[in-house]
Amino acid sequence: RLILAIESSCDETSAAVIKNGTEILSNIVASQIKSHMRFGGVVPEVASRHHVEQITQIIELSLEEAAVTMADVDAVAVTEGPGLVGSLLIGVSAAKALAFAHQKPLIATNHIAGHIYANQFIEPLVFPLLALVVSGGHTELIYMPEDGVFEVVGETRDDAAGEAYDKIGRVLGLPYPGGKVMDEMAHQGQDCYHFPRAMIKEDNYDFSFSGLKSSVINTIHNARQKNEELDPYNVAASFQAAVVDVLVDKTIRAAKEKNVKKLLLAGGVAANKGLRTALTTAVERELPEVSLVIPPLSLCGDNAAMIGAAAFYQYKKQDFASLDLNARPGLGLE
Ligand code: ATP
Ligand code: MG
Ligand code: FE
Repeated sequence: RLILAIESSCDETSAAVIKNGTEILSNIVASQIKSHMRFGGVVPEVASRHHVEQITQIIELSLEEAAVTMADVDAVAVTEGPGLVGSLLIGVSAAKALAFAHQKPLIATNHIAGHIYANQFIEPLVFPLLALVVSGGHTELIYMPEDGVFEVVGETRDDAAGEAYDKIGRVLGLPYPGGKVMDEMAHQGQDCYHFPRAMIKEDNYDFSFSGLKSSVINTIHNARQKNEELDPYNVAASFQAAVVDVLVDKTIRAAKEKNVKKLLLAGGVAANKGLRTALTTAVERELPEVSLVIPPLSLCGDNAAMIGAAAFYQYKKQDFASLDLNARPGLGLE
C-alpha cells in the first residue's frame, strides 16, 4: 500500500511516498530556515507564503523520486495539526485537492503522532511503549498501550525544550534555530554553572523549562552588564546538562512505572547528541531489559515520511477524513 504524505505544519514543506508505513520511497524536505533566520524565528506569514510557492513542486518531486504516479497511490495523508494555522492550511488544501481529483481516500494525521511513528522506519513498534517527544513546541512523555492509542503521562508546564534552546541561542547571538549550534557548543564546554534542574524531584512526569531559560539568560545579561568574560561554550554545556538531566531522569522513572519494554525518542530535539548519549547510557544502566529506539537525524526534524508512517495505521483502520477537513492548530494527541 502506498501513501502520499504531506507535512507543512511549521517551516518545512515536505512530501513523501511511503510503502506499508515502513518503507521510504521518497521524502522531500524543503526547509525555509534561511528565510526566517534574519527574523530570529519563524514568521507565520512568511512560512505560509513559502508553503504556497513550494508545495506543488515538492509533491511532484516526491512522486518522481519514488517513481510512481497518483494512480499508484492508495491514499493521501496530511498533517491536520498541531502547528501554525496558515502553514497547516496549505498542506491540507493541497491534500484535499489531490484526494478529490484522483478519488483517493484522505487521511488526517497528527504531527506529534508522526514524530513518534518516525521510529517505525527503524523497527516495528511494540506495545506498550513510552515515547519521549521533544521538539520546538512540545516536551511530553507519551504512553501507548497499543497502536494508535496515546496517553500523555507528563508534559511541560511552560516552554518546550526546543523553544528554550532557540530563545537562549538568540540571546547568545547564534543563528536561528539555536538548538543544533548549542548542542555542538555544549560538547566544547563544561557544566560550571549548575543551573536548576526544575521539578526533577517532584513526584510527577511534568517538565518546566522557563525557569531554567530565565536563569541562563540572566547569567548572560549579568555578565554583560558587569563586562565580565562569559564563555558561551560553558553556558551551552551547563544549559544542556540541566535539560538532559531532567529529561533522562523523568523518562527512566516513567518507563519503570509504566513497565514498558520499548522506549522511543522523537521530535526535533531528539537530534541532540547529549540527549541521545545520556538516554542510551541511562537505559543500559537502569533498564537493561528495555530496548531504546532513536531515529536517525534525518527523521528527527519535521518531514512527511513520519506522517506517512503514522497514517498507515489509520489507513488499515479505514480512518478516513472527509473533504471538508480543516486545519486544527491546537490538535491534541489523546
Ligand atoms: P512541534 O513538533 O512541537 O510542532 P516543530 O515541528 O517546530 O514543533 P521540530 O521540527 O520537531 O519542531 O523541532 C525543531 C526544534 O528542534 C527546534 O527548536 C530546534 O532548535 C531543535 N533542535 C534541532 N536539533 C537540535 C539539537 N541537536 N539539539 C537541540 N535542539 C535541536
Ligand atoms: Mg522546523
Ligand atoms: Fe515537529
